[in-house]
Amino acid sequence: MSAEKIGIQDGQLSVPDHVRIPYIEGDGVGVDITPAMQLVVEAAVSKAYDGSRSIEWVEIFAGEKAKEKLGEYLPQETLAAIREHVVAIKGPLTTPVGGGIRSLNVAIRQALDLYSCVRPVKWYGQGSPIKRPELVDYVIWRENTDDVYIGIEWPSDSNEVLKVLNFLRNEMGVPPEKLPSDCSVGIKPASEYKSKRHIRKALRWALDNGRRVATLMHKGNIQKFTEGYFARWGYEVAEEPEFAGLVITEGELQERYKGDMEQAKADGYKLLLNDRIADNMFQQILTRTGDYDVIITMNLNGDYISDAAAGLVGGLGLAPGANIGDGYAVFEATHGTAPKYAGKDKVNPGSLILSAAFMLSYLGWREAAALIEEGLRRTLADRIGTYDLVREWKKEGMEGQEVSCLAFARAIVAHM
Ligand code: NAP
Repeated sequence: MSAEKIGIQDGQLSVPDHVRIPYIEGDGVGVDITPAMQLVVEAAVSKAYDGSRSIEWVEIFAGEKAKEKLGEYLPQETLAAIREHVVAIKGPLTTPVGGGIRSLNVAIRQALDLYSCVRPVKWYGQGSPIKRPELVDYVIWRENTDDVYIGIEWPSDSNEVLKVLNFLRNEMGVPPEKLPSDCSVGIKPASEYKSKRHIRKALRWALDNGRRVATLMHKGNIQKFTEGYFARWGYEVAEEPEFAGLVITEGELQERYKGDMEQAKADGYKLLLNDRIADNMFQQILTRTGDYDVIITMNLNGDYISDAAAGLVGGLGLAPGANIGDGYAVFEATHGTAPKYAGKDKVNPGSLILSAAFMLSYLGWREAAALIEEGLRRTLADRIGTYDLVREWKKEGMEGQEVSCLAFARAIVAHM
């Protein structure tokens, strides 16, 4: 059976049973973790579908391998191949030092307008600093294109900042004591369009994936027209016709059902939408860990909360990620290239393997995704892991069997 490309129309995917998926091996430990990921994915797909579905990998190039083979870090044909195939998976990429591209990852996101960064955070049996890590099962949706990350800022004492300060004082009436002359100034935009498309996508995903709660995390008590409007736009999205009768806000739940979600569910509601102030959110994930589920937020908060939540389940070692736009999606390991371990068959391939599982569920191949997660859970339950996992278990007084990167992937397959 010859493999075909994924099709896309109005942001909806049509996924053939035998599908071509492009992959970027990645720099540094990419050579170790990418084959390990492919081994696990192929085994899961074969076990779940017994040949009626399959993946054909197509290698595309970015990073150092692309520079060597094609003379540039991010060739146009790589971006074209991702566009053409709609979904891709990538290992970590070195950020080239000096000149040209600021970050290859950012360049890929911008070229394909991958406006949501999605980070599932879940406990599979790895060492954790909290007592009940099994309560952690979050999917964090971080807006990718807005907020302070757009990089418009001026250093103190520059001619530019003086112009901006003068404008703000003279034209906008900002009192000088708020803006002393030694200020650096940065701009934080919050766009209604960008916020709403991100929130809409997250809510749709939450419904499609049977999640319980979606929380808008924001700092709207202080930054009223940026963070505050993000939350307000979130509630406006929830009122759009496609969510009517499916998404219920915390206020409505109190008013109509005295806070009883079970009763609301009996009337057809599927998802509770609430909001939390960002600083409280950091407390809540520690003190009321199990209350949260899908967390939808702007760019900077999303950056912070993704790592903080990953910390609850032992750090970034098993943290998958994806950048998603209108159908287009690139799944990736969230850690870097860890150059000192490159080619040593030592590091943990779990982040990329779980990213691949997330990719399979994005394609609708949930059975294969579930097999990977189950295989990983059982492998960790048998205390088999790469050096980093064993190191964390030791801290908790548990012995583990240390295996190589590839052996860990094989163990996951054996435990499926
Ligand atoms: P890093 O590559 O993530 O490595 C930092 C440390 O994290 C490693 O020394 C190792 O710690 C641990 N680690 C990372 N991946 C691991 C894995 N798979 N299994 C076990 N442990 C792992 O961060 P970095 O050294 O700051 O960055 C190196 C390069 O990667 C830079 O060029 C950076 O720009 C790039 N980067 C790329 C991406 C991306 O492509 N998405 C993301 C981040 C950074 P121990 O030695 O303590 O075990």
